Amino acid sequence: MGEKVKALIDKLNTDKQLGKDEWVCVFNEYDEDDRAYAAQLARELSLKKYGNKIFIRGIVEFSNYCKNDCIYCGIRRSNSCAQRYRLTDEEILACCDEGYDIGFRTFVLQSGEDKTYTAERLAELVRAIKKAHPDCAVTLSLGELEYEEYKTLRDAGTDRYLLRHETANKEHYQKLHPEEMSFEHRMECLRQLKELGYQTGAGIMVGSPYQTAECLAEDMAFFAEFKPHMIGIGPFLPHKDTPFKDMPKGSYELTLFLLSLCRIMLPSVLLPATTALGTIDPRGREQGVLSGANVIMPNLSPTAVRKKYMLYDNKICTGDESAQCRGCLERRMKSIGYEIDISRGDYEQ
Ligand code: SAH
Repeated sequence: MGEKVKALIDKLNTDKQLGKDEWVCVFNEYDEDDRAYAAQLARELSLKKYGNKIFIRGIVEFSNYCKNDCIYCGIRRSNSCAQRYRLTDEEILACCDEGYDIGFRTFVLQSGEDKTYTAERLAELVRAIKKAHPDCAVTLSLGELEYEEYKTLRDAGTDRYLLRHETANKEHYQKLHPEEMSFEHRMECLRQLKELGYQTGAGIMVGSPYQTAECLAEDMAFFAEFKPHMIGIGPFLPHKDTPFKDMPKGSYELTLFLLSLCRIMLPSVLLPATTALGTIDPRGREQGVLSGANVIMPNLSPTAVRKKYMLYDNKICTGDESAQCRGCLERRMKSIGYEIDISRGDYEQ
């Protein structure tokens, strides 16, 4: 009870940053009233910057093979229950063509870390997408690559790259990942992506196992310093065939609060209301928008493979056709007084 957290939210709005102890205080002491206060402020800021328009990006999840073994993830290498699939280049292009026809002007290609898709092959694919749809943006989300590979893909015309840092705290990172994965390398990748001129996205799962208020404070400090163009934030949701299967899911309310804090800190940031947010609550994406989000990323993958790209249990929209998702979002946004914007939706300071 009291004005302490509200005063810190006001301070964040003015200074665009808080000290670590202040962040810890915000996360330890906020109540529903503070969250509503932050959401109101965040929503005003996104309305001022973007109006009542929500950008849409079509995601094509083109392979669930992964060489990594992230403890939380349903497509981790060790999950022998996962039915693996790969889309051909033609199939990926066909998803983009279908997406184009129903109004998508950004395609996000996402996968596990699957080395059968070399940088050269993907560069060729990016060029083919750009040739077919010169007015579209291409975003990649393929995990950690080498600098030269990121460069090849950037030179091929890729506009954006999404790589959640997952956590800015090294000890926490090590609890979420096997020993062979490195916190420093993931952070290095993010710096390289920015240097290469990608519109770069970082992000976290809210309530991932072992996350503390200190971890979140470090994530917010990292966002303030790195200034990503996009921030992907969704709740951690357990997957039944991972070692974290009995871990509690992340908090819906804390996820919404974090979206608001990111909007207040970085008013221009592209902030999706994620699929995980729509999974934890049926109105999660609408509430995400009302808390400051301005992007939605529906699925464009072929219906036949959607259930196989299962990062966590009960993922929504895995039975739908792309055109159905498009119509459904239109209605959902309308229900809260927002509209879908079909432009590329690039980052603008
Ligand atoms: N291989 C790519 C894409 C990863 S999947 C990469 O490494 O970047 C995209 C995101 O899904 C991950 O960054 C992670 O934050 C999120 N994710 C994975 N498992 C999850 C789970 N169990 N609950 C919620 N989000 C999860």
